[in-house]
Amino acid sequence: MITEAEFSADVDAFFTDTLPGVLEDVRGSLDRARAWRGALFDAGLAGLDYPREFGGRGLGPSFKGVFQRAAAGRIPPEESVFGIGIGMVLPVIRDHGSDDLRAQMLPEGLAGRAIWCQLYSEPGSGSDLASLSTKAVLDGDEWVVTGQKVWTSGAHNADVAILLARTDPDAPKHRGITMFVLPMRQKDVTVRPLKQMTGADEFNEVFMDEARLPKDFVVGEVNNGWRMAVALLAHERVQTGVASVDRTNEKTKAGRAPIPVRFLTELARDRGRLNDPVVRQDLASLYAGERVIGFIRDRGGSHPSIGKLWRTRQGRAAAEFAARIAFPGSPAWIEDDEELDYYAYHVLNCRGMSLGGGTDEIQRNTIGEKALGLPREPAVDKDVPFNEIMKTRPGR
Ligand SMILES: Cc1cc2nc3c(=O)[nH]c(=O)nc-3n(C[C@H](O)[C@H](O)[C@H](O)COP(=O)(O)OP(=O)(O)OC[C@H]3O[C@@H](n4cnc5c(N)ncnc54)[C@H](O)[C@@H]3O)c2cc1C
Repeated sequence: MITEAEFSADVDAFFTDTLPGVLEDVRGSLDRARAWRGALFDAGLAGLDYPREFGGRGLGPSFKGVFQRAAAGRIPPEESVFGIGIGMVLPVIRDHGSDDLRAQMLPEGLAGRAIWCQLYSEPGSGSDLASLSTKAVLDGDEWVVTGQKVWTSGAHNADVAILLARTDPDAPKHRGITMFVLPMRQKDVTVRPLKQMTGADEFNEVFMDEARLPKDFVVGEVNNGWRMAVALLAHERVQTGVASVDRTNEKTKAGRAPIPVRFLTELARDRGRLNDPVVRQDLASLYAGERVIGFIRDRGGSHPSIGKLWRTRQGRAAAEFAARIAFPGSPAWIEDDEELDYYAYHVLNCRGMSLGGGTDEIQRNTIGEKALGLPREPAVDKDVPFNEIMKTRPGR
């Protein structure tokens, strides 16, 4: 059995000796992402706490922390394309999928051969996700799916999706949903990009018009999808929260991490502002915020919404600081200045971070109910059959 010290040395050797050669001649973000993940998989570092028969390493949970420390700041930014698969979907398939599904999905996902997206939100169902109306009907050996999803990050790159669809409209809304795996590359799935104010189009509308998936591509059990959805959301809140920090040292316009405080300190120094007492006070407070995220992550066991909420708060505070120092008196920036472009991206992007994975208000509700044990929000339609809930939205 490998010791933590030996393992840490292996991780260090991978980043120092193996990875630079692998990435040397690879151009293009997706190709680099796949090359990096493939190398990580081949080195036995891609699925530390996954069973060996499904492509993992079968190590205990402490090794993840060892990896994070040895890999801090060295992960290529292109890894973010795998955030949904690696960070959210694969752990749910590992914990709740059938052996067949695990054998089909886990090695492909861990090795970066399959890119995932998440088909949860709909035009009429975001925070109230359980009101979703995309439907799936069994037809022989296949499920047939019809409906529309929206804000689907990375759907344009995705090979496969984790999908929530209604399978029993006669049951109350939380009890008639199933979680599926949907192959994305089929003619009845249409992906349309949505342009964001950052200039990127990283999320999409997805239309399913009698799209098909095999009968056994169900995660968990039919009509038990809400439990799976909540399990995945917990992983999502870790992924978009505490796990997003300390991954890369590059000034990248990808990923979800707040601007690191060391960059903000450099920025203030470059602008001759480091002796300004207000700037110093803000930097100290941002530094404390960054350390808190690290502590929440390293301690483990906190409710995932706490880290997610703290991360988005830190992301906004860091971006507001950058805006004040980098573009004083102006909301504009010079596009051909790479550094200013990086700060401008974060100023615009940090707002969306408060929404993706559940809004700040929803995190606060969840912390109130689940972590503090406060009374639940009133939910008048909780026990009413879905198809009897009064629908005021068009198309229902
Ligand atoms: C960058 C980004 C990436 C995303 N990626 C994905 C993705 O890959 N897949 C996916 O399925 N979805 C994705 N989403 C969608 C995201 O999950 C939803 O935007 C989010 O859940 C909120 O839903 P909504 O936009 O419909 O807002 P609504 O639910 O309509 O909320 C509107 C406002 O009302 C507030 N509100 C609603 N209900 C309550 C309540 N009970 N108590 C207090 N306040 C409340 C909200 O906090 C919000 O301020 C993404 C969103 C963003 C911004």
